[in-house]
Amino acid sequence: MAATSITGIKGFNDILPGEVEKWQWVESVARRIFSSFGFQEIRVPILEKTELFARGIGEATDIVEKEMYTFEDRNGQLVTMRPEATASVVRAFIEHGLHVRPTMRKLYTIGPMFRHERPQKGRYRQFHQINVEAFGIEDPLIDAEVIYALLTFLGELRIADLQVHLNSLGCPLCRAPFRARLAEYLAGVSHLLCDDCKRRRVTNPLRVMDCKVPSCRDVLAGAPKMLDFLCDDCREHFQRVQDYLKDLQVAFTLDPYMVRGLDYYVKTAFEVLARHLGAQNAVGGGGRYDGLMKAIGGPDLPGVGFAIGMERLIMLLGEGVGEGTPMRLCFLACLGEEARRRGFRLVQELRRSQVLAEMDYEGASLKAQMRKADRLGVTHVVILGEDELARGKAILRWMETKAQEEIPLEGIRERLTALLRKPDGEA
Ligand code: ATP
Ligand code: MG
Repeated sequence: MAATSITGIKGFNDILPGEVEKWQWVESVARRIFSSFGFQEIRVPILEKTELFARGIGEATDIVEKEMYTFEDRNGQLVTMRPEATASVVRAFIEHGLHVRPTMRKLYTIGPMFRHERPQKGRYRQFHQINVEAFGIEDPLIDAEVIYALLTFLGELRIADLQVHLNSLGCPLCRAPFRARLAEYLAGVSHLLCDDCKRRRVTNPLRVMDCKVPSCRDVLAGAPKMLDFLCDDCREHFQRVQDYLKDLQVAFTLDPYMVRGLDYYVKTAFEVLARHLGAQNAVGGGGRYDGLMKAIGGPDLPGVGFAIGMERLIMLLGEGVGEGTPMRLCFLACLGEEARRRGFRLVQELRRSQVLAEMDYEGASLKAQMRKADRLGVTHVVILGEDELARGKAILRWMETKAQEEIPLEGIRERLTALLRKPDGEA
C-alpha cells in the first residue's frame, strides 16, 4: 500500500526554482540599496521569549492576542516564532551594547516572519520581510531618510503606482487626551462596530482605527483625528518630516486614520500602498518607536524604521524583471566508461571555472543524451566517444547552428571556459 503523501502546512509556501531567482534579485537589490544608505545587516533568531513580543508589540494588539505562534519548549519556556523583526533587533541592540558603538546605529535584516492569520492572496502564515531600523536619532531628518531609502529601493525594483501615506501618532503626552476623546466617540457608536471592535474599543481604542471591516471604516470617517491633538513638539516634528520629504521630491498623502498595527509607534507613521495588490495592498510600513528600547529594558534611545513584505513585492515585479539572464550551459555527452570518467572530471573542472556543465548519469545512448542536452537548453555539447578519446580529441557542437568541430582534449577546459564565458558564445 502506498503511503499517503505529506503536504506542507497551510499558509507556509515553498519557493521553487524559476521563482526563487526573483527573491535572490530582490534581496541583492535590498542589500545594495540599504547599505548605500548606511545600514548594516544584522541577523537575529526566529525564536524569542514570548515576553519580548508581548512587551514590544503590545498585549492588546491583534498580533499578540491572536496571531502568534507561541508554545512551550521542552524546558517549559514560553517561546514565540517572531511575528515581526523590530522587537528582536532592538533586543539584540541592547544585549550587545551596540548603542556605545556609534557606527552600528543603522541596521537591516531580511527573513521569515510567522503570523497565524487567515491565508489568502498576499497574506500567509510564514512570510518574509525586509526590515530597516535606525536607532538613537531624534531628528526628523532620519524619518525622511528611511522613507526615502524605502522608496529608492522600490524604485530600483521598477515598481510603479505606489502611494505613500503619512500620519503622526503623537507621543504618550498628546495621545492620552486623543485616546480619551476617541474612546468617548466610539462609545457613542458602539452598536455600529464589529464584534472585535466592540472589545477593542475598551481594551485599546486606537486599534479600532486599524480595523478593515467596511462598516467600522464608515464609523471612523467621523472620528476625531490625532493630527488635531498633536502637542507643539510633535506638530513641529511632523511638519519637518513633511518639509524634508518635499525637499527630496517625495509625494505623499496625509492619512489621519492610519495607525499601524503595533502599539509602539509614536510620531511619524507611514505606509506604502500599491494599487495593483487588491485587498492586501500594503507593501510596507513603519514609523517611529521612541519608547520601545526603554520598554524592552534598554537605554532610552529613539528609533525609526519600516518593514517591507517580500511576497507582495514579488507579486508587483513587472514581467521578466528579476528573472536574470539565462546562464550559458554546456553538456558533456560521453560514450563508454572511460569517456564517462574523463567527462566527469571535466564537468567538475568546468564548474570550478564558473562554467555551468552537465552530463548524463544514467548511461543513456548518444541520441538520448543529445535530447537531454536539448531539453536543458544548452548552447554547446561536447561529445566524448571512445574513438575520439583514443586520439586525444573531442567533438564540440554548437546547438543553435548544429556546426561541429573536432578539438584537442588538451586545453579543452580553457577553450570551453573562454567560449562559454563570452557574452556572444562564439569562439
Ligand atoms: P496588513 O495591514 O496587510 O495586515 P500589517 O500592518 O499587519 O499589514 P506590518 O506588520 O506593518 O503589516 O508588516 C509590514 C509588511 O509585511 C506589510 O505591509 C505586508 O507587506 C507584509 N505582511 C504583513 N503580514 C503579512 C502576511 N500575513 N503575509 C504576507 N505579508 C504580510
Ligand atoms: Mg496585519
